Amino acid sequence: MGYFDGFKVTFRTMFEKRVTVEYPDVKRPKPERFHGRHVLNRYEDGMEKCIGCELCAGVCPARCIYVRGADNPPDAPVSPGERFGFVYEINFLRCIHCDLCVEACPTEAITESKLFEFSFTDRKDAIYTKDELVVGDDGKPQKLPWEDWREGDDIHTSAWVRATAPSGNARYEGRVQWSGELGYGVRPPEPAQAGDAQAVLPPPADGTVE
Ligand code: SF4
Ligand code: SF4
Repeated sequence: MGYFDGFKVTFRTMFEKRVTVEYPDVKRPKPERFHGRHVLNRYEDGMEKCIGCELCAGVCPARCIYVRGADNPPDAPVSPGERFGFVYEINFLRCIHCDLCVEACPTEAITESKLFEFSFTDRKDAIYTKDELVVGDDGKPQKLPWEDWREGDDIHTSAWVRATAPSGNARYEGRVQWSGELGYGVRPPEPAQAGDAQAVLPPPADGTVE
């Protein structure tokens, strides 16, 4: 390519639509199913959803979750179950945001928000404790000083899709599969996927949920 051919390329691209943005001042909207920093959710009455079962820790391929369960104090239970998550830690230096912990959780306690912009000056700070992960009294994630939350980052955290999606089966159309959550109430179900082969199935005669 000659000298002027190179200038031609530069000149031509000057008038093309830009594909980059002025990050971090400008940020693209994140996809609805984006996996970011986790939160520990609470029920509408304020009870914690985590029952300390350790399934999330067992399934985590990066071995970055540490959970210890404890019996609920009878006079002041923390969760509706027999036990609650007494210690809960996630090491974000190891997490690969695969969402398997969310898939494994039987109570929708752990979900991933859309926040991925957080940094630390000490490795120990990358280990989030339960005090930091559990949502506040308004049901929203705590916005810690070193995190850059943007509008919508806390809406529709990852398990919402799993809990409300009808898996393409018309039987699940319009059914809420998500328990009430502090700050959000019962989330509306996702619409069924159009054209799915199972959409012709009749509803179950006995009304059971599959
Ligand atoms: S998202 Fe994946 S890697 Fe991260 S804590 Fe959950 S299971 Fe572990
Ligand atoms: S977050 Fe879910 S899977 Fe993990 S210990 Fe709590 S209840 Fe069990």
